[in-house]
Amino acid sequence: MNVAQILKHKGRRIVAVRPGESIADAARVLNREGIGAVLARDPSGKVVGIMSERDVVRTLAQQGDRALGMSVAECMTRDVVFCSPHDSIDRVMSMMTARRFRHLPVQDRGELVGIISIGDVVKQRIEETEMEAQALRQYIATG
Ligand code: AMP
Repeated sequence: MNVAQILKHKGRRIVAVRPGESIADAARVLNREGIGAVLARDPSGKVVGIMSERDVVRTLAQQGDRALGMSVAECMTRDVVFCSPHDSIDRVMSMMTARRFRHLPVQDRGELVGIISIGDVVKQRIEETEMEAQALRQYIATG
């Protein structure tokens, strides 16, 4: 099982904001879309950062009310880590665990093709485990 299979189920929709948008506007996007992170893309479409709800909480804790009017650029992580559609579920799970983040944009030959969250990865892993258990039950029942 790999990242391409996750994207096949969940689709390739990518929610992004401009780095110049306010944190308050980006937080509204997170809320409206029911997601935990957005990519920041410049007008050419290049990914220049990622902002997750954790960044919003940190900036609010550090800056108070002022945070809401600050820009996404002031709060996002600039050094974005990507995965590939060919990466295995195990590989992306260990990337997320080792680096302590829950989102991975997916890049294929330099092109952004989707984004996965830890929720998508866990869901895929549970489905895999259920299929294996089902196959074992069948094997035992039929000999
Ligand atoms: P998360 O666990 O995804 O909410 O993010 C925790 C922290 O890691 C936040 O500061 C995010 O900006 C950052 N982060 C999340 N995903 C990535 C990623 N793929 N590459 C780099 N930083 C990330």
